[in-house]
Amino acid sequence: MPKDSYNPYENAQAQFDGVAEKLKLPLGTRDLLRQPQRELHFTIPVKMDDGSTQVFKAFRVLHNDARGPGKGGIRFHPHETADTVRALAMWMTWKCAVADIPLGGGKGGVICDPRTLSQAEQERICRGYVRRSFDVVGPLEDVPAPDVMTTNQHMIWMLDEYETIAREKSPGFITGKPVGAGGSLGRTEATGYGVVYVLRGLLGKMDIHPKKTTASIQGFGNVAEYAAKLYTALGGRVIAVSCWDAGDGTSYTYKKAGGIDAEELSGIKDKFSSIDKEKAEKLGYERLPGDDWLKQDVDILIPAALENQITPANFPLISRNVKIIAEAANGPVTPDCDPLIKERGIVMLPDFLANAGGVVCSYFEQVQCNMNYFWEKAEVLEKLESKMVNAFESVYVLARNEDLYMRDAAYIIAINRVSDAVKLRGWV
Ligand code: GLU
Repeated sequence: MPKDSYNPYENAQAQFDGVAEKLKLPLGTRDLLRQPQRELHFTIPVKMDDGSTQVFKAFRVLHNDARGPGKGGIRFHPHETADTVRALAMWMTWKCAVADIPLGGGKGGVICDPRTLSQAEQERICRGYVRRSFDVVGPLEDVPAPDVMTTNQHMIWMLDEYETIAREKSPGFITGKPVGAGGSLGRTEATGYGVVYVLRGLLGKMDIHPKKTTASIQGFGNVAEYAAKLYTALGGRVIAVSCWDAGDGTSYTYKKAGGIDAEELSGIKDKFSSIDKEKAEKLGYERLPGDDWLKQDVDILIPAALENQITPANFPLISRNVKIIAEAANGPVTPDCDPLIKERGIVMLPDFLANAGGVVCSYFEQVQCNMNYFWEKAEVLEKLESKMVNAFESVYVLARNEDLYMRDAAYIIAINRVSDAVKLRGWV
């Protein structure tokens, strides 16, 4: 099946159904947890800079809030769909549960392409989003954050609109804000660093030093950039990164035999994470087709872009030497590919565990906002590391003791926590 014919919501439900069956969950609980609790679909009419009006479709989905207020980012993407947002909201519930933070799962999206919009138009979309969803979001209700193609600037515009309507300061309404305007130190690094904390834990269990490993990464957005930086600092070598190109809209893989330099590449990417291909070539990078990141002879693959990127169709291209797939993106491996990964003995670090660092730090941001007392960066990162290591340990131990695929082990922990909460509340 081609990548774009997968439906992420069907994927998320298939993953849930498999584990619900293993756990013999009561049918009522299954019915409650396999779909969102609430959805808001709305339009945002925006006056464009040329005087015309454009109407953008938008969503906010709350999957489950039994363990705490909904939590999850807002994506700006031209291919956003209601089903993508539903799937991502569901994955947020499992992510917060496996990381053991007192939050539920939500997600939002706007069908738009910020790369083609002026700053003023983006600001109007952000403010419109909050105006039209005000009744279903809030610090104790459902808390947004950045996601694909949304930035800390978008977050502070949204906060400003929220506070203007609420007529009070409410910094816990949204996370991923700029530092100095209610943001937490370490939030920018958190998701990518979290991926590497978990990866390092796994390498330790496998008795492999990061120095002896190589990796190939898909994407060079915020998550990929900081994962590459920390992995390199631990001694690992990133051989290749793939990245979309703002000039022609396609993607390329940038490769350097001795390893890419994440600092250098971050210096030549734009704010939507497109690497400047001319500058990369001048710096000695080989430029290959976009999908080549998958074919590299490395130990670790880190898909850090979008969903549905590794499928049974391209799985055979993966080198026999790959030992670990660390899902830094949400849903990058399709469920029909999991059996092939298991069969080859590749260890899977599932998305909602591996990339939970972002939301863990978002939780810290909320806590700091509520106290109105902000921690030093070292303190944030230390707490983040501890949460990620604990989450990894519990998933790893369950997988080892019960001989489970790590995705299944993570699901069992998360689903058990959420089903306990809905039961305690008397919902089922
Ligand atoms: N968008 C990020 C995610 O998918 C972060 C969510 C948040 O911080 O609430 O995990």
